[in-house]
Amino acid sequence: MLDQLSVDSKKYIILPHFSFKGDDIIFLDKYKYFVAGDNFKLSNTEKINFLLNEGVIIRKRIKQVANKKCKDKILIIEPHPDDFVLSASGFVLDKEWRDVKVMNIFSKTLVANFPWSDKFFINESEFEKIRMKESSFAIEQYFEFKFESLRLPLAQKRGYENNFHARKTKSEPCLVEMLSKKIVNEMEKNNYDVLLCPLGVKKHVDHIVAFEACTLAYEKIKKQKNNFQVVFYEEYPYARNKRLLLERLEYVRSFFKLKKIIVKVNDYLQLINDSIMIYRSQFDNINSKQMLEVIKRDFEIVAIEEGNSENDKGNLFQRYYEIEKIL
Ligand SMILES: [Zn+2]
Repeated sequence: MLDQLSVDSKKYIILPHFSFKGDDIIFLDKYKYFVAGDNFKLSNTEKINFLLNEGVIIRKRIKQVANKKCKDKILIIEPHPDDFVLSASGFVLDKEWRDVKVMNIFSKTLVANFPWSDKFFINESEFEKIRMKESSFAIEQYFEFKFESLRLPLAQKRGYENNFHARKTKSEPCLVEMLSKKIVNEMEKNNYDVLLCPLGVKKHVDHIVAFEACTLAYEKIKKQKNNFQVVFYEEYPYARNKRLLLERLEYVRSFFKLKKIIVKVNDYLQLINDSIMIYRSQFDNINSKQMLEVIKRDFEIVAIEEGNSENDKGNLFQRYYEIEKIL
């Protein structure tokens, strides 16, 4: 299988966690993902389609011509590995940037949430390595953007409670301040024009910490740089829940005047899907075609909600929110 694939290496890339032993597919060097057996006789095209659908390989990225010319530099804050590809990549792909950097905050996530844990064991540090490998593969190799992780420990380990409504948190003000300092430093060092950050839908504590740090950084940088822009992204899959989204928006709107930004993502659907498939350690029960349908549906629903007219049919949108001013 691998030999035949290498013929097509101009078209396809094998994802970092997979290797081949004859016709068998091995996941993370630990688990026989697929045992071909004697009856596994497929043509080369069928094999490629099988591997594509299983998320073992993806198409090499063909650089899309961005819809909008843009001379700006953008910094994206991602609480966890995969938040960028799931929720924010459409905004970035829509424009031609001078510089793109993704800053990941929390690299360590609960190994109890590892979806493959019923099949084989990994420890916490292995899980972190796996996730970092996915992110650097997706962001640096696939998209050719810059990537950095601050590698902070997971929320539960920091002793957070679930209740996290206060804007300025008393439980750990220094984490938000420390993070916001790091963001400000990075902003000043590389003079970014746009900061893209999570909205905090569903109030996941790590996302709230990122939101607080970003807004604190905004208040500081805005004083020095007039045309500086902060844009929030809705987090998926949480933002599918309209009630949670509206609740969060109402809260954020009590501090900031927001302007909605609608991005048409029709041209980036396959790219977004392929980049999500890179994070294969995060799911074991959904294949590439199913994932494509899921994200397409998400983008269609946004199009419907945003007053998609009849002649707009087939349009796929993502929604973002720009801070217009501090209230
Ligand atoms: Zn997240």
